[in-house]
Amino acid sequence: MRADHLYNYAPYHYSYEYDYIFTGAGAAGLSLIMRMLKSGAFDQHTFLLVDADWKRKNDRTWCFWEESAGFFDDLVCQRWNHCWFHSEEFSKKFDLSPYQYKMIRGIDFYQYCFDYIKSRQNVRILHEPVEQVFNFRLSAGLTLANGSKYYANCKLFNSIPFTPQTQHHKRFFWQHFKGWVIETAPGSFDADTCTLMDFRVPQTVGSSFVYTMPLSDSRALVEYTIFSEEVLAAEEDYDLPLQNYIREVLKIGQYKVLEREKGKIPMSDFKFRQQKSNIIELGTAGGQTKGSTGYTFSFIQRHSDALLAQMKKEKDPSRLRQTGGRFHFYDRVMLAVMQQQWPPGAEVYRQLFARNPVDRVFRFLDNQSSFGEELKIFASLPKLPFLKASISATFA
Ligand SMILES: Cc1cc2nc3c(=O)[nH]c(=O)nc-3n(C[C@H](O)[C@H](O)[C@H](O)COP(=O)(O)OP(=O)(O)OC[C@H]3O[C@@H](n4cnc5c(N)ncnc54)[C@H](O)[C@@H]3O)c2cc1C
Repeated sequence: MRADHLYNYAPYHYSYEYDYIFTGAGAAGLSLIMRMLKSGAFDQHTFLLVDADWKRKNDRTWCFWEESAGFFDDLVCQRWNHCWFHSEEFSKKFDLSPYQYKMIRGIDFYQYCFDYIKSRQNVRILHEPVEQVFNFRLSAGLTLANGSKYYANCKLFNSIPFTPQTQHHKRFFWQHFKGWVIETAPGSFDADTCTLMDFRVPQTVGSSFVYTMPLSDSRALVEYTIFSEEVLAAEEDYDLPLQNYIREVLKIGQYKVLEREKGKIPMSDFKFRQQKSNIIELGTAGGQTKGSTGYTFSFIQRHSDALLAQMKKEKDPSRLRQTGGRFHFYDRVMLAVMQQQWPPGAEVYRQLFARNPVDRVFRFLDNQSSFGEELKIFASLPKLPFLKASISATFA
């Protein structure tokens, strides 16, 4: 036997079969596996968690609003009770009650989840790239890039993002952004008040805004965000507007960039349908990114709760009804308005925030509003463009 064969030799207790397999250990995979493990209902089951990455970097921060304590509330590093909305013609500070706007840092989330998962005897973790997942007889399996195959006896939960085939979508945008955590002089920020959206930036490449999330009176995450069909080619296309915003709008001359994050989220009217199969798609891969805003974290949390409840009732999680319904249509309408660029995004959001209480806006963007509230929201928006977009969303 050649010596290198020794390294391929699998020890006798090594298993290629698990009850539950998770491909992807990001927000969605970890949110569900943590709930399953902590529920105590799966102590007799075996798990395999596979991710290509070691998840040791702070690759993103999640900001979201919540009314009460969420599953990961202990990880919230900052909360805001007030927020600003700004556009060229309108500025307003909102009291967010009964909501709080919250932030969780990616690195805290990964560390907390992996520390807990590693303390469990029934979970194996593999840091390997997955080549494909497949249905297999009555179960499912995966092939790693190195050719090894693993099988799930019960379900395989997949959250590996797919590359959107943009030409297949009638309405497709990227929400792309770059953010800096900056440190500057004390007294520069109000740590209780974040800026949800500030449209006072050039609107030339698409609807663009900046959000500012103060972490103390001298430190904040400042993130430049664009909704457009193409992402920007050069780093400086993000850096220059960020620098200008910090200098001209925040009026901060001297600062140090402590951290950087960059990303893109697909926003589309693609209708995700869970196939009745043993592969269950989670997170962005499973349609948990809101088509018209890109918000995902809260949707992942609600989806994880619903999947866990379904499994605890011994019901097939692939039969969980995807909630979307009329909200999917509203997303199509919002995307159609963005596509026709009439009125510009800044104006749509101005009217939304100027003419509605913020809790109604939050419930609407969370797919949690009542039909009566939705009528009020649409009545507050420009009639003709939304009528045109609704017709287009209905028939095309
Ligand atoms: C920088 C950034 C900031 C964001 N901020 C917010 C926010 O403030 N609020 C909000 O609601 N949403 C936000 N989002 C959107 C969304 O919440 C996140 O993208 C979220 O992480 C999506 O969760 P997910 O599990 O679907 O995907 P991910 O968290 O991206 O997890 C997918 C996992 O799959 C792994 N993977 C990929 N390919 C392979 C492969 N071939 N084999 C094995 N593993 C693989 C990746 O390493 C990753 O760990 C943000 C996104 C980004 C990129």
